[in-house]
Amino acid sequence: MTGTISGIKRNAVHDGEGLRTTVFFKGCPLRCVWCHNPESIAFGRSLGFYPEKCLSCGSCQTVCSRQAVRMENGIPVTDRERCSGCFGCTEMCPGDARIGYGEVWEADALAEKLAQDKPFFDNSGGGVTLSGGECLSQPGFACALAGALTEKQIRVNVDTCGYTTRTVLDSILPFTDTFLYDLKAIDREVHRKCTGRDNDCILDNLRYLTDQGAEIEIRYPLVPGWNQGECGRIGAFLAGLSRKHKVKVLGYHSLADGKYRALGMTDTLPPVQATLSDVEEAVRILQGYGLHAVNGMKDD
Ligand code: SF4
Ligand code: SF4
Repeated sequence: MTGTISGIKRNAVHDGEGLRTTVFFKGCPLRCVWCHNPESIAFGRSLGFYPEKCLSCGSCQTVCSRQAVRMENGIPVTDRERCSGCFGCTEMCPGDARIGYGEVWEADALAEKLAQDKPFFDNSGGGVTLSGGECLSQPGFACALAGALTEKQIRVNVDTCGYTTRTVLDSILPFTDTFLYDLKAIDREVHRKCTGRDNDCILDNLRYLTDQGAEIEIRYPLVPGWNQGECGRIGAFLAGLSRKHKVKVLGYHSLADGKYRALGMTDTLPPVQATLSDVEEAVRILQGYGLHAVNGMKDD
C-alpha cells in the first residue's frame, strides 16, 4: 500500500506524549482559513519556491523539460499551469530554494525508516504521529502504516480533523494510541465559514470514538475573530459526551504566510494573533464545564 506525504518531522514534542516523529500526509478535505500546513492541503504534488534561498543560477530553468521556468531579473518565475510536479528542478537547485512536497512511500518501507528512532520513542514514551493534511484522507495507507508501526511495537497517534467515515475510524482504531482530535467550532455556520465544510460528521465521529473508549485529546485552535466565540459551545458539547477528554487550547499566530507565497497559493491566514490572556480565558471557560483544559502555549 502506497501513500503520499509532504514531509516527516523528527523530534516533535507537541504531537503527543514523549519524543515523536510526525508524518504529514498530503491532502485535506477541509480548507481552514488559518491552515499552517498549506503544503499538505492538495492531494497531489506541490512545488515550493523560497526566494530568499535562491542563488539565481538558472539551473531550474535549464533542467525543466516543460519550459515551466523563466528567469526574470535573476529570479526564476514558475508557470504552475505548465509545471508537472516532476521535482527535477528541486534536485538540481544548489540553494535548496525549490522544495517538492509529495513523496510517495510504501507503508512498510516508511515504517522501517521511522522505526530507526524506536530507542528514542521507547526512552521518552513517544512514538509516531500521523498528521497532515488529514491523514485519514488516505485511509488505506494510514491503516497500513499504523499497522506496520504497531507490529514494531511503536505507538501511533492520529492527528485528525474528524472529517471521515465511521468505517475508516473502525479501521484505524485498533492501531491508535491517542487521537489528537481538532474541534474548531460547534455552530455549523461558524464551522463552515472557518473550514468550508459542515461539522455534522466531525461531531458524530467524536461521539462515536468517545463511546468506543478511544483515548482522545481535543485540540481547540483559538483564532480571534473566527472561532473565539465558540469556546462555551465547545465546552458544553464536550461536557455532554459519555467521557471527558483533555482539551488543549492552541493560540493562533499567522507565521506560515511565507509558505503560502512559496506555493503560489492565496494566503488566507487571518492577520491576528491569540494572546496568552485569550488562551487563558478560554481555558477558564472550558474548566468551568468540568473539563481538563490546558494552555497549549505553555508546556503541560
Ligand atoms: S517540478 Fe518539474 S515541471 Fe515543475 S518547474 Fe520543476 S522541473 Fe519544471
Ligand atoms: S536552481 Fe535554485 S538557486 Fe538556481 S535559480 Fe533556480 S531556484 Fe534559484
